[in-house]
Amino acid sequence: MDGDCELCTQPGGELLWESDLCRVVRVTDASGRAFPGSCRVILKRHIAEMSDLDAGDARGLMEAVLATERGLRKALRPDKINLASLGNMVPHLHWHVVPRWRDDRHFPAPIWAAPQRDATPHPIPSLDSLRQAIAAELSTVTGTP
Ligand SMILES: [Zn+2]
Repeated sequence: MDGDCELCTQPGGELLWESDLCRVVRVTDASGRAFPGSCRVILKRHIAEMSDLDAGDARGLMEAVLATERGLRKALRPDKINLASLGNMVPHLHWHVVPRWRDDRHFPAPIWAAPQRDATPHPIPSLDSLRQAIAAELSTVTGTP
């Protein structure tokens, strides 16, 4: 816990699922609106690097990331999923799981790159539909409560 860290003090999005190790949230800021279904898998401890986790926790976190990816693919059928762990701005382990479409604002560049076009709107999934899709996949993950 770090009182100055936004991922220690705030959820980081709308909660979809959580375990003792991590939580999965839907991103609700501007990037979440530009990329419907965009999620973050956030470690529940203030640790900066994957290699600072023990093997079991690293595996558990990746299982949650992969389950989130599978849920988003089933629910949204995007053209591509982007996985990214940066943490340069907020050095607290979190993975971005971002559905991408060929006609989204930045494709094929990363979502953080300069926009290439106006986006073609894609339907924004309901919180319930995302929660169900992701929970179904996460139910098989190690450490599920
Ligand atoms: Zn933190």
